[in-house]
Amino acid sequence: MARPPAAAITVPLLDLHAQYAPLRDDLLAALTRVADSQQYILGAEVEACERDLAARLDVAHAIGVSSGTDALLAALMALGVGPGAEVITPTYSFFATAGSVARLGATPVFVDMDPVTFNITAEAIARAITPRTRAVVVVHLFGLAVDMPAIRAVTDRAGIPVVEDAAQAIGARVGGRQVGSLGAVGCFSFFPSKNLGAFGDGGLVTTNDDALAHEVRLLRNHGMEPRYHHARIGGNFRLDAIQAAVLRVKAPHLQAWTDARRRNADRYRALADDLDLTPHVVLPVEPEGYRHIYNQFVVRVADRDALRAFLADRGIGTEIYYPVPFHRQACFRDLVIDDAAYPEADRAAATTMALPIYGELTAAQQQHVMTSIAAFVAARS
Ligand SMILES: *Cc1c(COP(=O)(O)O)cnc(C)c1O
Repeated sequence: MARPPAAAITVPLLDLHAQYAPLRDDLLAALTRVADSQQYILGAEVEACERDLAARLDVAHAIGVSSGTDALLAALMALGVGPGAEVITPTYSFFATAGSVARLGATPVFVDMDPVTFNITAEAIARAITPRTRAVVVVHLFGLAVDMPAIRAVTDRAGIPVVEDAAQAIGARVGGRQVGSLGAVGCFSFFPSKNLGAFGDGGLVTTNDDALAHEVRLLRNHGMEPRYHHARIGGNFRLDAIQAAVLRVKAPHLQAWTDARRRNADRYRALADDLDLTPHVVLPVEPEGYRHIYNQFVVRVADRDALRAFLADRGIGTEIYYPVPFHRQACFRDLVIDDAAYPEADRAAATTMALPIYGELTAAQQQHVMTSIAAFVAARS
């Protein structure tokens, strides 16, 4: 068969069809099983999914919830975060990280990030702690764990619980241990673009603390125990049986999908080396002792917006995570004393972009991405 011309190769940022096709029969059988059971809310599918994920994530408790956002909300509620409390969060993350804090009437306190890992640091957290700090939300951004040993040294000394926003980092490790088990409570998302995606919204709260687990279980179902008796004001943060059934089919493949993403990351590195791109494009790092799961492969470049347009013309999808840090969001304007206090986040917002990294990418697609970047660099220099 003749090879298609290079220009015919397209590289979407994410292609869910490629993952779905080989699992289609198993997934449709799982959906049929739920339909035949006519049991849609919590129940046996959700419990089986929770047991499976608790074992895979190496935690005592895994509680299925309606989204990653609601995982954060329930976790913060379980920790007693509310009006008058300050919660330290990175300024550079998906909105839910800080939005869930603000929705509870608490004050998110933003801190800047490490320019190499993009993650929140122990030093920045230490500087932001006040007598009103009730929790710290760390985000394992793009799939790379934060330096949890250093962060725990700071937060344990201050007696402050850490919430792990692990929405982008399922299966990531630091020091051999998985995220979601390293703080008081972990929060995962099954949004379809995450490494483990459902057929819609879903999330998970993890913890090794029996009392916190009990509290989250109550809160996800209106604080109800027993039926129609409410000792707490919770919400409807329940995971659907349909999503749980889909996750049970997909979870056994997560390790292989993550390995494929890691292989693709290595392939990009090799291509960037071969094409002499390393002076022009800063690729993501995986520090010693960490396992990056590459939910996103975020690079730094000069002329970011021009390069994105150039790549779009060549059929290559990219995205900016994130163009507007929290300290520049209109809804948080009143919280920010000095908007020049976050230079690394501002720099990242102006210079970074995500390249396609999903597991089913082909070598030819990756070659097309990197040779296109090389063509852009050559035209500019
Ligand atoms: C995706 C994401 C969330 C929210 O998850 P949803 O399931 O979309 O509600 C929270 N935090 C981070 C860092 C995320 O990437």
